[in-house]
Amino acid sequence: MRRSHFIAIGVFTVGSVVALYAQQRGGPADHPAVTVKGQTYTPASILARNMGSTQDQETQFPPHKIIGNVYYVGTRTLSSFLIVTPQGHILMDSTYERNVPTIKKSVEQLGFKFADIKILLGNHAHGDHQEGDAAVKQMTGATVMAVAEDIPALKAIMPGGKDHPIDRVLHDNDTISLGTTMLVARLTAGHTRGATTYTAKIEEAGKTYDVVFFSSLRAGGVVTPAVAAEFNHTFSLVRSLPCDVPLGDHPAEYDMQAKYAKLAASGGNPFIDKSHCFDEADIQEAMYRAVVEEQKATESRQR
Ligand SMILES: [Zn+2]
Repeated sequence: MRRSHFIAIGVFTVGSVVALYAQQRGGPADHPAVTVKGQTYTPASILARNMGSTQDQETQFPPHKIIGNVYYVGTRTLSSFLIVTPQGHILMDSTYERNVPTIKKSVEQLGFKFADIKILLGNHAHGDHQEGDAAVKQMTGATVMAVAEDIPALKAIMPGGKDHPIDRVLHDNDTISLGTTMLVARLTAGHTRGATTYTAKIEEAGKTYDVVFFSSLRAGGVVTPAVAAEFNHTFSLVRSLPCDVPLGDHPAEYDMQAKYAKLAASGGNPFIDKSHCFDEADIQEAMYRAVVEEQKATESRQR
């Protein structure tokens, strides 16, 4: 009896996970759909756009300069940014642990030393952005900084049983300085409790640009009142940020591939794109509002 009871619980749990996975991946639960600037999105289409295939997640994208001292060192679908200074470098997002050697290779191909990374930051506590933190810490001795609200989730990311390193706890509006570069951490919670957008003033050719490293703004599942409060604050906060150069934790969030393709052609810097700074926020907010409406309709039907 005891044994069959145990199996029943097991089946129920696996079934719930499969349903959740199907909901995230598409299939019958892939709704609502929203149309923003003529393009229609569903939860599954956004997830597919962000993640691509397993191969996309693991394949090096050509490392390149974005603006000033900011470089791209990630894969085709998982962003990793390198900010170089004479006093050492900042790495933002280690991505999956298996990608760390690829990121190291990209840093070296740009002519920098991986061992010169002094600070490691992360956009939010999900494995596709921060699973490699312990490996980067081991290889570089970098100071790992994380926003307080994400620490419980980060502590649970333990590839190979390794403890998640955290050397400095950040709070909203804290600054991170290295050399002449200063980043400001802004809590933009919702996707995770501690999802963080970093901003920096970056110089290029005698001008200063506001660079925004956006975190994901995607509503990941059931919107609880606490998550709703976070998103309502976050969407107005991100729109208040000065922005010339929008970046994102997935390259598709800022149309990296199309901009990269323009690098060789034009004289201007295609990553300076003020008019599209909040395109991703528009898409994610439309989806978020639609998810909330759908949730309300379901709740009132059940009443
Ligand atoms: Zn995420």
